[in-house]
Amino acid sequence: MAQLLLIEDDPTVRAALMRTLAERGHALTSAATGMNGLRMAVDERPDLVILDLGLPDLDGYEVIRMLRAVSSVPLIVATARDDEDEIARVLDAGADDYLVKPFRAVQLEARVRAVLRRQRGEEDDLAPIAVGELRLDPRSREVTLSGAPLDLRPKEFDLLYYLAVRRGQVVSKRELLTQVWQTPYGGADKTVDVHLSWLRNKLGESAQEPRYIRAVRGVGVKLVEP
Ligand code: CA
Repeated sequence: MAQLLLIEDDPTVRAALMRTLAERGHALTSAATGMNGLRMAVDERPDLVILDLGLPDLDGYEVIRMLRAVSSVPLIVATARDDEDEIARVLDAGADDYLVKPFRAVQLEARVRAVLRRQRGEEDDLAPIAVGELRLDPRSREVTLSGAPLDLRPKEFDLLYYLAVRRGQVVSKRELLTQVWQTPYGGADKTVDVHLSWLRNKLGESAQEPRYIRAVRGVGVKLVEP
C-alpha cells in the first residue's frame, strides 16, 4: 500500500479517483489548490503525488518546479492536452509520468503501480557492491578493504563507486569527468588522475603496481578483482 497525494481542483474527478485508488488499497489525501498541494507534499511526505496541471491558483508547471525544488517524490501529471510538446514540457519539468485527460481511474492506478515499482527498483540498485576484498555501501558511503574501513573523500567515493558499478569495463577519463564531476566542458584530465592516485594510495597500490585500479593506455581505467 502506498500513501498518495492527489492535487485536483475538480471535485467530481477528485472523488472518482479517490474512490478507485482507495478501493485498490492505497491511502489517499487530496488538495484542491496548488499551494495546499505543495504544503501537503512537504508535510505529509507521500509516496507519490498525482497532479492536475489545470489548477485555479498556480500554473501547473510552477507547481512541478516548486515541488522539485524541495522533493524528489514520484510525480504523475494529469494533462488536458494530448500534444507532444506539452508532454515533453511536463517530463522536462520533472514529472515521472503523465496521463492525458480524460482517463479512467484504473489507468491511473496502473501508472501509479509502475512508477512506484520503478522507484523501488532504483532503490534496490543502491545495494552494497563487492569487488574482491573491496566493499562499497552507497547508502552509508562506507568502504572497507579486507574488512578495514577506508577514509575516502566524497569525490573519491563517487569515483570508486562509479568504477565499481562498472567493474571490469574500461571507463574513459572524459566519462568520469562528465559523470562523477559533472563538468562536461573544460574539465582537466588531471583532476581524474589526481583522484585516481589518491585512491590507489588508499587502496595500498600504485600505478606501477596496480591491483584494483588498472589503467588501459589511451582508453581509460577500470576496476578489477586483483
Ligand atoms: Ca483542473
